[in-house]
Amino acid sequence: MSKRNGESSDPLRALPGVDLVLQSPAAAPWLERLPRERVTDLVREAIGDLRESLIADASQTPEDPLRAVAARVDTLVQSLSDSSLRPVINASGVILHTNLGRAPLGQPAVEAVRSIAGGYCNLEYDVEQGRRGRRDVHCGSLLERLLGAPALVVNNNAAAIFLVLHELARDGEVIVSRGELVEIGDGFRIPDILEASQARLREVGSTNRTNLDDYRDALGERTRALLRIHPSNFKQVGFTGRPAIEQLVALAKSASLPLIEDLGSGCLTDHLAEGIEGEPPVARSIKAGVSLVTFSGDKLLGGPQAGIIAGDAGLVARVRRNPLFRALRVGKLTVAALEATLRSYVAGREDEIPALRLMRAPANVLRSRAHRLAQRLAEHGISGCSVVDGESLLGGGSTPMQRVPSPLVAVEGRPGQTAAHLESGLRSHDPAVVARIEKNRVLLDLRTVPEAQEDELVAAVIHATRPRQTGA
Ligand SMILES: *Cc1c(COP(=O)(O)O)cnc(C)c1O
Repeated sequence: MSKRNGESSDPLRALPGVDLVLQSPAAAPWLERLPRERVTDLVREAIGDLRESLIADASQTPEDPLRAVAARVDTLVQSLSDSSLRPVINASGVILHTNLGRAPLGQPAVEAVRSIAGGYCNLEYDVEQGRRGRRDVHCGSLLERLLGAPALVVNNNAAAIFLVLHELARDGEVIVSRGELVEIGDGFRIPDILEASQARLREVGSTNRTNLDDYRDALGERTRALLRIHPSNFKQVGFTGRPAIEQLVALAKSASLPLIEDLGSGCLTDHLAEGIEGEPPVARSIKAGVSLVTFSGDKLLGGPQAGIIAGDAGLVARVRRNPLFRALRVGKLTVAALEATLRSYVAGREDEIPALRLMRAPANVLRSRAHRLAQRLAEHGISGCSVVDGESLLGGGSTPMQRVPSPLVAVEGRPGQTAAHLESGLRSHDPAVVARIEKNRVLLDLRTVPEAQEDELVAAVIHATRPRQTGA
């Protein structure tokens, strides 16, 4: 909305030159953060962007072109100098939130990463012998102790399944129940992994029922393995059925074929498995005779992103020799975090693992924290906050159906403010707060908010309920 002279002058002539922008007061903070050549490039880019938008639509000529360019450079400078990956406050109550990085690491794992990250380490060096070692050793013996079988660590569970299938079944067929051909999320589908591994999928049974004979009837010359998948992120109810794992083990043994089980979550303890409906502990599958199991390191296990392959020693060694192992192996930071997490299990100190601790956080503690938060918000003039009964979710593509009762703080915001507006205001705070909306109220679940973040959470709610919010 400009045409300042009322005349149809060339709008491109209103564009500031590079030097003019660089000499404007707006440039000082840019030059503090980035070298002059980089800033010059960004200024050029910003002027170029404005030029293009003017060519496309001259009526968009800004009132103050210099300011418009400076604002664009501000954004560019910020995107280059501020961290893109940054902490958020997870007030959603989803304990294993895939979009929020899944399991938070425990203190020992954080310390381990800190001590390793900045320097050299014995990742693949045998210090005693003074020669090359193997990166497998650091987590291998701990996993073997916990699972009762040799194990291998790769980048994530998708990589684990891929590698196992590529090694054991790439020239043949894998038998899978139709009821288990799941999409885990973000487009990750088991059939796609199979295809990428060059194994052919042989679907058996129906969506809701598959019996042992369905598997037996599909056995043939080209069968290389049976694959069982824990359908972790959905639940079938009603007329459903599938063979017990022991039955599949017996069938696979009689056909001299490996049985592979994708467990999804790495549930390492029996008592934890008891508390979670339908969650099979890893050791149980191994004890039952499954040839190879695969599971994630950052779901119920509570460690870093990783995929673990465990089971029959000969098969683990075969998978280890597959040339693609090299492409899927983990780095030293993952080894450090996973080793420390596994040590917490070995030592029986599961409370060091945040995912497990959060799941078991006592309701009375959460309730008094919730009341305290509601009261603090009220003291800041934010009315209409109340403590309501709700649920936290285990989440994380592991067992999202699993709910844990949890007291929540319902925030109504200022009069007339919609829940959606309040929620987006919480996200625009730094650090951003991720909350849930239910029945047109914003709900804050303190189960996933460490006490140390409560002050920031209060500040974020104040920010989000302020009458005149700036920004989009
Ligand atoms: C989560 C999940 C995966 C994928 O694991 P990532 O570690 O995210 O690669 C595969 N299979 C099942 C059953 C899962 O639940």
